[in-house]
Amino acid sequence: MFSIAENLQDLSLRVQRACEQAQRSAKDVTVLAVSKTCPADAVRQAYAAGQRAFGENYVQEAVEKMAALVDLRPHLSWHLIGPLQSNKTRVVAEHFDWVHSVDRLKIAQRLSEQRPDHLPPLQVCLQVNISGESSKSGLSAAELPAVAQAVAALPRLHLRGLMAVPAPAEGLAAQREPHRALAALWAQLRAQGLALDTLSMGMSHDLEAAVLEGATLVRVGTAIFGSRPLKTPSPTQTPLA
Ligand SMILES: *Cc1c(COP(=O)(O)O)cnc(C)c1O
Repeated sequence: MFSIAENLQDLSLRVQRACEQAQRSAKDVTVLAVSKTCPADAVRQAYAAGQRAFGENYVQEAVEKMAALVDLRPHLSWHLIGPLQSNKTRVVAEHFDWVHSVDRLKIAQRLSEQRPDHLPPLQVCLQVNISGESSKSGLSAAELPAVAQAVAALPRLHLRGLMAVPAPAEGLAAQREPHRALAALWAQLRAQGLALDTLSMGMSHDLEAAVLEGATLVRVGTAIFGSRPLKTPSPTQTPLA
């Protein structure tokens, strides 16, 4: 059994080694600790070990965790990385610092309208369906440029970059391909004048590939908190996305 603190230390070494291989500075890669399904106490342990940015997939679960950790709120940033339905945009706009999973202009418009005035603009990434899987959410490469320009113009959002969850692949070369494709789309948008600084890609199993292709933020759950229990659907508690 490894502790969360030890896992974070091992992870930081992994990121550091990947950065060395990529000839990049480790300062340029942020670790987002994906705490979905983990209790608030696990977040507290990660915080005690120095972790500050946390990612959640389920809105209701995240909001409950934030309430349990309200004493840490000024020190933490909370990132929504899971699918977002339009009936959940208000609670997201009121509680999160970042949303990585914006995949429709309509969702972005609602988030901008609903972001409270006393909070800074909501930081957002556009999710791209980089492997072209019909089952996955995310914008296609073709629709991305127009949506990116429109989202960048919304007053209460700050468009920071792109996010993707590629189809699982084995081996470094195969894992690098979709990350390279996302990085190319990101570079194109920057060439079109968008001031993007965030490339949100790489998870526990493929973060080396992502860092080699330029990831600025890796989203890591299992390697920090251990494997998650399989979700069993219960009639009283539907997952709120
Ligand atoms: C769960 C999740 C992660 C973290 O996955 P691990 O394999 O546990 O590191 C990253 N990104 C998204 C969008 C996720 O849903």
